[in-house]
Amino acid sequence: MKNYDWIEKGLNELRAMGLERTLRKFESVGGKFHGNTGKILNFSSNDYLGLARNERIIAAGVAALKSYGAGAASSRLVSGTLPCHVELEERLARFKGYPSALVFGNGYLTNLGVIPALVDRDDVIFSDRLAHASMIDGAILSRAELKRFQHNDCDHLAKLLQNEKSTGRKLVMTESVFSMDGDLAPLKEISSICAKHGAMLLVDEAHATGVFGPNGAGLVREYKLSPSTGAQTVAGRVEAGLPAGIATSQTGMPGSTPPATDTESDNQVDISMGTLSKALGSYGGFVACSAQLRDWFVNRARSFIYSTALPPPVVRAASEALDILESRQTLGRELLNRADAFRKRLQEAGFNTGKSASQIIPLIVGKNQKALRLAERLRDKKILAVAIRPPTVPEGTARIRLSVTLDHSQADLDQAADQIIDIGYAEGIIP
Ligand code: PMP
Repeated sequence: MKNYDWIEKGLNELRAMGLERTLRKFESVGGKFHGNTGKILNFSSNDYLGLARNERIIAAGVAALKSYGAGAASSRLVSGTLPCHVELEERLARFKGYPSALVFGNGYLTNLGVIPALVDRDDVIFSDRLAHASMIDGAILSRAELKRFQHNDCDHLAKLLQNEKSTGRKLVMTESVFSMDGDLAPLKEISSICAKHGAMLLVDEAHATGVFGPNGAGLVREYKLSPSTGAQTVAGRVEAGLPAGIATSQTGMPGSTPPATDTESDNQVDISMGTLSKALGSYGGFVACSAQLRDWFVNRARSFIYSTALPPPVVRAASEALDILESRQTLGRELLNRADAFRKRLQEAGFNTGKSASQIIPLIVGKNQKALRLAERLRDKKILAVAIRPPTVPEGTARIRLSVTLDHSQADLDQAADQIIDIGYAEGIIP
């Protein structure tokens, strides 16, 4: 007889700690929809710009479905690279300000493929403490040593790099807009620290893409840290797509790190990662990088190589989303303005929203059960917001994660703020 008691025991332990996860059925996607019980305000959707149900995007997806079919039927390296994939990658590269881009199955698979392609067991990864699970899983898969710096703490990062004895490659990784806190990474400082220490820099722009920067191109472009915008680019480095301090071996990969020099001023983000599944309203993940790095990922990123190409309808939908961003350049700004006003109201009422400066607004309550209860009370008022608990966030920082979307009108946000504040008082969360 097989024994599955260990599963029951494990699930019971999770239940006792308020950490069990269950699946809930939602009637629709997006920030607002009509369910069986009337209007629902959904603050747990990452469809930030309301594009997932946009008519132009749906039409583009349907057209691709009709011309190509539902699936790509093969991996990219076999016969799965269709004109729509090539077009999307060219567009993403231009959008992000990089020579090239490569599309993966989703954002998780992107980090899972790219990180082990960059570093190996003799190398070291320096990761922000709050970096997304997909980056951590990529790091584990790479077998490189993983060192974590305190969240957004540049001094700590610099100290770790300074004290690093390994002569292997160094990779620094962070998010630009943090998924559970909605705060922003000090990318300029981080990129100059990387340049000084000859470390490669990977930035996950999952939550910044479509929202921050010119036309929603992200924070890397906003801070002029992509090759096409880098004011202080060292000639030759753009082509190689690597920090100037990193030697290039015959195989085209960065070799051992030479000693850092103080004279380098080329602070660029080497790999700008993103997802098509949030503000772009579609599905899939990608990196924007040098042509050389792209060639390397095509040869070495296992989640790219051993997986079927993205279905044409989602690829064409993502391209259409980029078209929309180009023609309606203020979408991200509008979203951030609405989110700023909403956050201010909640803060003034006494909620702890941490250092949020984006469309992602946490209401940090501490205990798991408290977060679960708050989510339940909000649900009673037809406000959907998920309780986020460890291990997704650090112990003792359970929270409700609110994401504002363009589906939320000003009236919706006013109404939601009133209700959240009322419940906050009733539950003793705010004074
Ligand atoms: N990176 C970050 C920061 C994310 O928040 C997410 C999704 N939650 C991912 C990567 C993964 O992206 P995808 O959902 O496309 O797999």
